This record gives sequence, C-alpha cells and structure tokens, in this order.
Amino acid sequence: MADGLLIHPTHEQLAAFETGRLSDDDSAVVEQHLSACADCCQWLKQSPEHDSYVALLREAASSGVAEETPAN
Ligand SMILES: [Zn+2]
Repeated sequence: MADGLLIHPTHEQLAAFETGRLSDDDSAVVEQHLSACADCCQWLKQSPEHDSYVALLREAASSGVAEETPAN
C-alpha cells in the first residue's frame, strides 16, 4: 500500500480523483498519497477541476440534510 506514496499520480489522475472519476482502488491510492504529499495537495487546490469539485460538494451538501436553510 505504500507504493502510492512513492509515485506521484499524474495531474490527470488527480483531476479524475477530485471529480470522482477514478475507480475505488485508484482513489484509495491517490487519497493515501495526498495525505502524505503536500505538492499534490497544492496542485489540487489550484487545479481548474477544483471549482467543479467544490460545486459538486455544495450540490451534495444542499441535497442532503439542510442544517440552516430550509429546503423549499
Ligand atoms: Zn505527490
């Protein structure tokens, strides 16, 4: 499992990870890598995919339990 820490995922893989397009296995590897690699985390934060990822999260959050705003 430590293999993922030694090899940086490609930017393509990172973007796919961020938008949920990676397989479960690949996501696990990338996720573990990100937990230990500041460089890749930094890339993700400034990647063009980040905006769409944040939008996805907001969408998911708003479609879930609304804590402050009532769902109309
Ligand atoms: Zn990395």
